[in-house]
Amino acid sequence: MSDETPASNHPPLSPDTILVRGGLTRSQHKETSEAIFLTSGFVYDTAAEAEARFKGELPGYLYGRYANPTNRMLEERLAAIDGAETCRLTASGMAAVTAALLAPLRAGDHVVAGKALFSSCRWVIETFMPRYGIEFTLVDATDISAWQAAIRPNTKSLFLESPTNPTLDLTDIAAVATVAKSCGARLIVDNIFASPILQRPFELGADVVVYSTTKHMDGSGRTLGGAILGSLAFMEEHIDPYLRHTGPAMSPFVAWNVLKGLETLSMRVERASANAARLADVIAAHPATAQVRYPHRSDHPQYDLAKRQMKRGGTLLAFELRGGKQAAFAFLNALRIVDISNNLGDSKSLATHPATTTHSSFTDEVKLELGVTDGLIRLSVGIEDGDDLVGDVTAALEAAQA
Ligand SMILES: *Cc1c(COP(=O)(O)O)cnc(C)c1O
Repeated sequence: MSDETPASNHPPLSPDTILVRGGLTRSQHKETSEAIFLTSGFVYDTAAEAEARFKGELPGYLYGRYANPTNRMLEERLAAIDGAETCRLTASGMAAVTAALLAPLRAGDHVVAGKALFSSCRWVIETFMPRYGIEFTLVDATDISAWQAAIRPNTKSLFLESPTNPTLDLTDIAAVATVAKSCGARLIVDNIFASPILQRPFELGADVVVYSTTKHMDGSGRTLGGAILGSLAFMEEHIDPYLRHTGPAMSPFVAWNVLKGLETLSMRVERASANAARLADVIAAHPATAQVRYPHRSDHPQYDLAKRQMKRGGTLLAFELRGGKQAAFAFLNALRIVDISNNLGDSKSLATHPATTTHSSFTDEVKLELGVTDGLIRLSVGIEDGDDLVGDVTAALEAAQA
């Protein structure tokens, strides 16, 4: 926060202030808002300056694939929010997940991950990395003894998401971190569903945290982006060479959108979570519903963990309709405010039927194992008026029951 660095007698800043001001670096024009440096390259006054910058003897930017001033502001802001040493940006959340998983590993290494993962994360672990000789074990992530039992001498990384997509099961991050520490493996946490507002994986022992900025951080459904947070040593050894040479760089235009999105992240996540908690109760009380999954409802199987690990129940909920696929489709088609979309973390409320969309490529057996039944709906709750959302969802539940 070069312009805003508090004098030493100022108290440390709280996250809500960092969301608005973290990383802000003003140009010579002293603009109020963060500037977009939409440039792929940088110039040098002399050949000797270029030489010195390439040698690292002079500070300064070299090329947009390596770093950019707008992106740097976002990296500093994201690192400060989560209390990470540093951050690197990528073109999408999947680019961040892939880099964090793949870059540090070699053929013969082993990864342990939860079974219930965002489907592209599961593809990277289950299908892509084994082509290059990286072994994996998928475990029931809610069972800590399963993590322990899966550890091998060549286990290098543990990967989890909590809450999981789409059934909102939780993993005890602190307990898995203990397993990781005991075997010298790194714990990588996908913190996308909870966002840094509701869950703080580094405080629970994570080594690396990954985000899709596409979701709550952009918050308005405009851009795709990703971020990797962790130690400087991890970035310099593993991530920087990988990102520089393979090139999944975030556009500075995207970084700027995310910087502006972060300014309202806390307010949006709080409000969307309040709407989600209310909708979870309304949906649970309706006769068309067989079951609701929402981390801060007392009937969630991991309610105690949810209360301990997450500040609020989150912006996502899942529920099972008694009438199966027919009821699920009737529910979706009857919605007037909530859109049918597989995106999430948007200001707009979005509903999806995982069995026929995001999880359609899984076999019936895997779907069953993951709890992706024909009657399951996932709702990503937005920041619209709560009464309006309750009215819309109630009307759609009536249609689902007809
Ligand atoms: C969206 C998402 C990703 C991937 O992010 P993209 O920006 O879409 O590439 C990974 N994990 C989880 C849990 C997600 O929700």
